[in-house]
Amino acid sequence: MASWDRLSAGALSKLQDRLVAHQVQHVVGPFSPYWKARLAELGRRASTIGSVAALEALPAAGERDVAPDGDPAGMARLVVQASEGGFVLHAKGPTVRRVLRMRATGNKDYLKVIAHETKPTSYVWSGLGFRYPLASTRADLDVVARAGARLWSIAGLTAQDALLSAVPVTSSTEHLALSYAAMAAGAPALFPGAEPAALIAAARLAPPTVLAAPSPQAADVLSTWAGAGVSIDSVRTLLLVGAPTPAQRAAVAGLLPAVTVLAVHAPAGARVLWTECRAGGAAAGLHTYPDLDLVQMVDPDSGEPTAQGGEVVLTQLGMFGSALLRWRTGDIAAAPIDSAPCPGCGRRVPRVIGLKAHAMVLVSDDGRTLDLRAVAGALSGRTDLTDWRVVVGRRGRDGRGQVIVHLLPDGEPGEVAVAAATDIRTVAGLLPTQLVVTTPEDLAALPGEALTPRIRLRD
Ligand SMILES: [Zn+2]
Repeated sequence: MASWDRLSAGALSKLQDRLVAHQVQHVVGPFSPYWKARLAELGRRASTIGSVAALEALPAAGERDVAPDGDPAGMARLVVQASEGGFVLHAKGPTVRRVLRMRATGNKDYLKVIAHETKPTSYVWSGLGFRYPLASTRADLDVVARAGARLWSIAGLTAQDALLSAVPVTSSTEHLALSYAAMAAGAPALFPGAEPAALIAAARLAPPTVLAAPSPQAADVLSTWAGAGVSIDSVRTLLLVGAPTPAQRAAVAGLLPAVTVLAVHAPAGARVLWTECRAGGAAAGLHTYPDLDLVQMVDPDSGEPTAQGGEVVLTQLGMFGSALLRWRTGDIAAAPIDSAPCPGCGRRVPRVIGLKAHAMVLVSDDGRTLDLRAVAGALSGRTDLTDWRVVVGRRGRDGRGQVIVHLLPDGEPGEVAVAAATDIRTVAGLLPTQLVVTTPEDLAALPGEALTPRIRLRD
């Protein structure tokens, strides 16, 4: 069989159908309390979801759907909780036969095999509007390491490379995935944290060939280095951690013209990092792992499936722990998922191009969050509205962030505005800065860059 990144379209589609069926029917469906209840509510049986197409008919869910009040404790309902009996019913044949044989011969270690696959033992923190722990089992960590080894090779790195990471050393997907990537690739790596003095000391100790830094801070890290007189001649690759904006990418490219700059990114809720490939760079997009995660798109305004660009929706395959199924990541991709062979490296893996990280959840200067998906959800369903737009921008007089909702009512304008405001407050937790009743002409003339069909961004 061809390797995971060289499968023909037909073979990949068959493999993903099989992996989706197993994940839904034998992992998430029976063992995740949230999805068990959700499937019952939708009147769907897990046994009927046996393919990628069938999965796409399932409404996507995000953090506010699982924990509407933003209480991280609610996210425990996602975690797969398999009992010993359940494991024997649902695990894959060879593992079950091994466990049954061990149990029959009185070998108590069979419990360790079950725990290896199903017991959550390690956690990273993630989230958009609020922070919550994502659980991994021992077997999940093997998957993270396997994905890490792939990342290393897609980025064109080898065991001869040496990594210096400026990513904060905390329980985050980014830090864990980077450290596992270097470990799985057999490359030396230093993780001194984000503190400039510690970073500079580490760089002097062991000149790195690869520097990893969070995209928003990368240019500052490089300037600090230069200011301290540390040579960056050894660096050949810069990994921007978290999909960078074009401006962030341009800023580091200006400082390091001879260095290959690649983005690595994990959507909120994910446990593996995707990377751009060395030959293809930004234009070829983030390379996904089709046997570890299934990437789909929904229209961010309505939550409905779309073949166009839209919100990235993620389904983890072959992982226990926190069960991400049809997970709304809040990331927006400008283009549809590209499944053609990569023009850079030739790999046949779905690629996400033009990704805007965390675009659907706004964090205000005072730390409060507004989930634009909740606002759009409250407006999309209304029969008393002909149309609507949301404009996100900054107020002229003091530069504070503001969100203005423009409504085109189909009814008495005052009543419609009050009813829409009440619904938005209920689902989004707080009100936008302003609600404006408008005309079709004014609605069509609203300025700003389109984030989604109905949400616009203004500087
Ligand atoms: Zn490529």
